[in-house]
Amino acid sequence: MIRRAPDTITADARKPGYGGKIARHRQSHTFDTKPTARPPMVLTLTDTSPYDICVRNGTQRNERDLSGLSDQRSCYREVRPMITDAFDRPLRDLRVSVTDRCNFRCTYCMPRDVFGADHPFLPREALLTFEEITRLASLFAALGVRKIRLTGGEPLLRTNLERLIESLSEIPGIEDIALTTNGSLLSAQMAHRLKTAGLRRVTVSLDSLDDQVFQSMNDVSFPVHRVLDAIQAAASAGLAPVKINMVVKRGVNEDSIIPMARYFRGTGHIVRFIEFMDVGTANGWRLDEVVSAAEMVSVISREWPLSPIPPERPGEVAARYRYADNLGEIGVISAVTHAFCDSCNRARLSSEGKLFTCLFGSEGFDLRRRLRDGANDGELLQVLSGIWSKRRDRYSELRSQAGKNSKKVEMFHIGG
Ligand code: SF4
Repeated sequence: MIRRAPDTITADARKPGYGGKIARHRQSHTFDTKPTARPPMVLTLTDTSPYDICVRNGTQRNERDLSGLSDQRSCYREVRPMITDAFDRPLRDLRVSVTDRCNFRCTYCMPRDVFGADHPFLPREALLTFEEITRLASLFAALGVRKIRLTGGEPLLRTNLERLIESLSEIPGIEDIALTTNGSLLSAQMAHRLKTAGLRRVTVSLDSLDDQVFQSMNDVSFPVHRVLDAIQAAASAGLAPVKINMVVKRGVNEDSIIPMARYFRGTGHIVRFIEFMDVGTANGWRLDEVVSAAEMVSVISREWPLSPIPPERPGEVAARYRYADNLGEIGVISAVTHAFCDSCNRARLSSEGKLFTCLFGSEGFDLRRRLRDGANDGELLQVLSGIWSKRRDRYSELRSQAGKNSKKVEMFHIGG
């Protein structure tokens, strides 16, 4: 089932949560689908092309109108349709893992005892090329994706990443390109190159300001000061505000919450405190090691009063809070104690070209094979919209029902 909703007309499309009116449309994108006569004004599966709607009366412009009165033309606004899944969630965000390689061994993601120094990462030819990623991203954009986040493993281990960012930033409809990194390779020059290529924002992982604690979590003795340098480099390059992801694990770094909040208050950067999650199969997750988002907020607000900030758009991962003294904001990500699957609009593309519709998914859809078998854009659009429209993922809501050893994809394969 494909449900389309204009995302610039009906107010209800803007309410957190989704649902919209169905509108008629006409073809304008140049996908190399099999030559077809111009489709009648009815809804079809792969018609994802933008169309013009008159904001005054909601009528749709078609050829005839071009010869109409000038002021009539001025009421038209381009609308890009979007597809929705079985729970009416549109496809808005695409996370692209550009490599499964990482130079850290974070205990909550890639524990060394399972993924040692000699772990066999994917060979280069197995990775999607930048051209393949860009082609898929443009098809996702045609289906409603507006934001792309580049992840890994550690994405900056993929050389010439700025070339990919340049081509992604030219895709019509893509409004935001962000990157999640551990900061180890984010020098001032690199930050400048990424910004120039079109990168808009950076999220840097830092789990403590205490070197001993941080190094016990990244498990490669990587020092705190080098991550702080990376955050500064990103800010100086104009990739601010920088978001800082801190995974909190009870018995390991909960005492670092206040020092982290104190350090970044008033800097404009935003710390997001993340509940320890049962991602993948190897991090030995236990519920009693989870520090809940509510607990983290209460710990911080005892020091500095906080007030909730309403979400700017549906699908925001973090619940945001502003310091009452206006010295900035924090975020908490509560995938365990307060699931947010109801507005989850994220798809994930693994570095070898598998499409996952949930962070806790087990099987991905092999898009690389279809790409390399010569599928055309129309066929790929059919595949993508077919997958999304049947999507029923809501793992975090059903976590307690999930089997203990459910085979979940490793986070470093699809990015957080
Ligand atoms: S558990 Fe899956 S469906 Fe739920 S928010 Fe996370 S990625 Fe989305």
